[in-house]
Amino acid sequence: MAIRLAVVGLGKIAQDQHLPAIAASADFELVCAASLQGESPRGHTYRAVDAMFAAEPSIEAVSLCQPPQVRFEAARAALLAGKHVLLEKPPGATLSEVVALTELAQEKGLTLFAAWHSRHAPAVTPACHWLEGKTIRSATITWREDVRIWHPGQKWIWQPGGLGVFDPGINALSIATKILPPFHLTEGILSYPSNQAAPIAADLRFATFDGVPVIADFDFRQTGPQTWDIRVETEEGVLLLSKGGSEMRIDGVAQSLPHEAEYPSLYARFAELIAAGESEVDVRPLRHVADAFLRAGHVEVEAFVEEEPGRQTVPA
Ligand code: NAP
Repeated sequence: MAIRLAVVGLGKIAQDQHLPAIAASADFELVCAASLQGESPRGHTYRAVDAMFAAEPSIEAVSLCQPPQVRFEAARAALLAGKHVLLEKPPGATLSEVVALTELAQEKGLTLFAAWHSRHAPAVTPACHWLEGKTIRSATITWREDVRIWHPGQKWIWQPGGLGVFDPGINALSIATKILPPFHLTEGILSYPSNQAAPIAADLRFATFDGVPVIADFDFRQTGPQTWDIRVETEEGVLLLSKGGSEMRIDGVAQSLPHEAEYPSLYARFAELIAAGESEVDVRPLRHVADAFLRAGHVEVEAFVEEEPGRQTVPA
């Protein structure tokens, strides 16, 4: 029997990835959704999660796809109502929220799945296997994308708790924490646009406990080709993960990879966790981001102004 699921927040990621992955999954059945503005492709659309849980007691699980700043209340309400919960990344706006939800899920005997979709990219598990037993000399993470292309109109990303460039950067950290030995932040610089509350770029130096450097360059101002690469230099060769973990090269040679798609794999994992009565909450990527806010220096850079749709200036 498929698990009866509701989706909360029908924005970009819900439309692009969650709804198609749920529709294609034999493990889940979409019952309804909670959305401030959208319409569920199946069942009723509720404007509030509490009303949804009251009206649809058969819901067994929810996927929370809103921005991180508003997810905690919905996650808590879902767990208190006895539902298993999938949290989009990042799992919260603070670490304390995530700890509170983890404890509540445990107390209630429910599954809490803090999903890191990039860990389900096809090259990530093969990279872990290739790195096993190798001596790492350095790792370089380059995550540079154009915020205007990938996050148009997402005001929440620039507000406190929205993470700015760490919204994509945390995906890189979710892969790095999976494939590399433990590392910690030693120094960094966060660049804040003069009119925004979140960084547009981050230049971070981490090191493993043996002193191996792990350098991260996150930038939202990239135009032209976009880069989502992790390069690991080892004594036995160089591993390059590119396109967010969807391609892998060893010493420049492209490797053949399993045909795995991130969100179908994520939902398969959610079903597996529910069946096993387990939770999966790895806070390390979020902890590194919190460390960057604690430990890195700040510089002010040019204001970030996004033109409102339909109000573009006509070139002279
Ligand atoms: P989005 O397009 O801005 O959608 C977020 C949706 O959340 C909104 O459309 C809205 O949907 C709902 N919402 C509820 N309260 C809101 C509030 N106060 N402000 C704004 N929206 C609110 O964002 P998204 O790209 O889907 O990202 C959502 C989450 O998924 C983020 O944590 C992001 O990191 C993660 N994610 C995004 C991507 C991506 O490529 N975009 C990829 C992976 C993960 P309703 O009107 O339906 O309530």
